[in-house]
Amino acid sequence: MPLPDSVLDLIGHTPTMELTRLDSGPCRLFLKLENQNPGGSIKDRVALSMVEQAERDGVLAPGGTIIEATAGNTGLGLALVAAQKGYRLILVVPDKMSREKVFHLRALGAKVLLTRSDVGKGHPAYYQDYARRLAQETPGAFYIDQFNNPANPLAHYRTTAPELWQQMDGRIDAIVVGVGSGGTLGGLRRFFSEVSPGTEFILADPAGSVLADRVEHGTLPAAGSWLVEGIGEDFIPPLSQVEQLTKAYRISDGESFDTARDLLLKEGILAGSSTGTLLAAALRYCREQRTPKRVATFACDSGNKYLSKLFNDDWLRQQGLRQRPTIGDLRDFIA
Ligand code: PMP
Repeated sequence: MPLPDSVLDLIGHTPTMELTRLDSGPCRLFLKLENQNPGGSIKDRVALSMVEQAERDGVLAPGGTIIEATAGNTGLGLALVAAQKGYRLILVVPDKMSREKVFHLRALGAKVLLTRSDVGKGHPAYYQDYARRLAQETPGAFYIDQFNNPANPLAHYRTTAPELWQQMDGRIDAIVVGVGSGGTLGGLRRFFSEVSPGTEFILADPAGSVLADRVEHGTLPAAGSWLVEGIGEDFIPPLSQVEQLTKAYRISDGESFDTARDLLLKEGILAGSSTGTLLAAALRYCREQRTPKRVATFACDSGNKYLSKLFNDDWLRQQGLRQRPTIGDLRDFIA
């Protein structure tokens, strides 16, 4: 095999490992390491797929401008692709996203516009509405629109899903996924409905997101807020087809963060907050089973960009997710 001669050739082909140091009850639990993509997340695959589809469709021409609304990881993937292919990139990012992501995006040459995280769909400052408007007003711009772009799930149908299927020797009883744009879920479900319709899909949702309620009760409650980044929504992303699922777990920020930290301590994998949510749901599912099952989930992104957040006890304390140290703790520390 010739060596890759572009960083874009390094997207995908991620390894899958079995997790053996966490309590997965009677099940065997596998983790596909999407954190090993060159931009650090599962969204590299989607960024490449959506840009190349736009090129094929003739809607993105050399020297063109790419615009997207993104919580960060799609932006990092797009920044990698845009820099390699010579496109200008403008990203609209909600201001709750970690500073590390924003620094990384700017270092890759993207123009980052921060907008309010505390407003919903329909508000002019809502990141998706803002990006769409900007694309309409910018000549030669292409709005990626990952929430409605079929090349998003297609990347997972064509690459993520067949890789996982092959790596697990064609034996997967259940897959646990989170939903941001819904591309991962939509693409995986399409592939597995063809090769293994018995594979069950389970939603891992941050508490406060509306998706778990839609799965369990068909209702659409008012959204709350959560600290986990990249998954959970205040609306139903059309590409997710989440209403076709039957099982969902609501995972609190605290449980997500604790699980991501456990993954690092016990298995040595430094992954982000959404991985904590997925893994917490996968572990709960595994422990509830009475028969052994083969269960897969994803390390969606790398944990480096969360070192000052969920891996930082001071930050957890500020969020009310850790107790302040007591005099007794201090004495233990000295001893
Ligand atoms: N985890 C992280 C960290 C993400 O950034 C995203 C994408 N927003 C996801 C999971 C969810 O992926 P999808 O958009 O395919 O639903």
